[in-house]
Amino acid sequence: ASLQKEDSTIDGNSFKGHDMLAPFTAGWQSSDLHPLIIDKSEGSYVYDINGKKYLDALAGLWCTALGGNEPRLVAAATKQLNKLPFYHSFWNRTTKPSLDLAKELLETFTASKMAKAFFTNSGSEANDTQVKLVWYYNNALGRPNKKKFIARAKSYHGSTLIAASLSGLPALHQKFDLPAQFVLHTDCPHYWRYHLPGWHLSYFSDPLNDITCINSHGNARDRSLHLLLSLSWGAGGVIPPPATYFDKIQAVVKKYDILFIADEVICAFGRLGTMYGCDKYNIKPDLVSVAKALSSAYMPIGAVMVSPEVSDVIHSQSSKLGTFSHGFTYSGHPVACAVAIEALKIYKERNILDHVNRIAPKFQDGVKAFADSPIIGEIRGTGLILGTEFVDNKSPNDPFPPEWGVGAYFGAQCEKDGMLVRVAGDNIMMSPPFIMSPEEVDELISKYGKALRSTE
Ligand code: PLP
Repeated sequence: ASLQKEDSTIDGNSFKGHDMLAPFTAGWQSSDLHPLIIDKSEGSYVYDINGKKYLDALAGLWCTALGGNEPRLVAAATKQLNKLPFYHSFWNRTTKPSLDLAKELLETFTASKMAKAFFTNSGSEANDTQVKLVWYYNNALGRPNKKKFIARAKSYHGSTLIAASLSGLPALHQKFDLPAQFVLHTDCPHYWRYHLPGWHLSYFSDPLNDITCINSHGNARDRSLHLLLSLSWGAGGVIPPPATYFDKIQAVVKKYDILFIADEVICAFGRLGTMYGCDKYNIKPDLVSVAKALSSAYMPIGAVMVSPEVSDVIHSQSSKLGTFSHGFTYSGHPVACAVAIEALKIYKERNILDHVNRIAPKFQDGVKAFADSPIIGEIRGTGLILGTEFVDNKSPNDPFPPEWGVGAYFGAQCEKDGMLVRVAGDNIMMSPPFIMSPEEVDELISKYGKALRSTE
């Protein structure tokens, strides 16, 4: 608390004196909690209300892929705001930007065929929508028991009721009466933390070990049944899957007639150096969730993409089922869609994947060069996403006492030096904007190193 106070950019200001209940913020009542108020952004940087500049090493919340101040996105929003700031997409009415975005978005996904897109405002709403769509689909097929979902320990899928239930992070469940009973959680395939002597990385590629819950829930074909996987864990500590993990998972998924839902909310549009995480891991999902970089976060928007098999069933059975009574006032909001269309255009025209693949090795190698630090257990990641875990004795079994606040100290040092990272306990996460220049990557590495030295 004293560090936060010392580093606060706003004297005498705290959440206690404000009216907002801040999301994911501890100690609302504490007058020691001084919010950092961000006021402006420019490229890979943000500025607080006192004008202090920070390298935004997390791209907001893993989302501002094109950084701040991208004039084309601002122009697209302004043009649409002037023409039609809002109309909905209920009851066979809609707008041109939402129809155009659905077409453009479906074309970007080539790992498997996607037939339809449903728009939401966020990743959480996209994942909630997945569950409802799958229930509706199984009801259409007369399979009323096939309603369970498998998700993974340490995954983050959002914070609405269903998305928080699917998430495998106890903090999202405790005190909220979650998770809901239809969700099962598997192990987390994190070799460094969980392997036993003699295990090879491929251990975790045996999904029947990993997904013991399939077997333990009886007749898998009828009961437990859909799999929601985030493709490179974000908020749970950035834990990329072992090499053949998804191959093996997909074999099991096929065997048990399980629909595979890929949560691409962080990975989509280039974060891993491929357009989608599914392209990198050769995954052929039935349903896909996206959000965040879809509009580079200039407007809130998410989407669910649905395979022809699932959408055909829903369409052919719709007379039996009636209206799909699900949607949001702002599903397909025309301004958000106009911005997303422009973002997708920019990714293509500027060859954003090439740029990501140019800077990613520098980012990965530069930060991983600090892995020998006595306080670092593991640095892990791929493309433009990295997690660092601080432990004692370089062992996953020796966490630092939480009251030492090692991760928080590191994060505060970064902030002091003008860089924002994500701190979760003793995990540090970074996911820079796709547009970061090589010089900015150098700055990120140097600030990381400086904060590390003062934390050691
Ligand atoms: N899925 C993943 C993998 C995420 O990382 C997030 C948010 O960080 C979400 C879903 C939820 O997205 P939102 O915060 O837009 O609801």
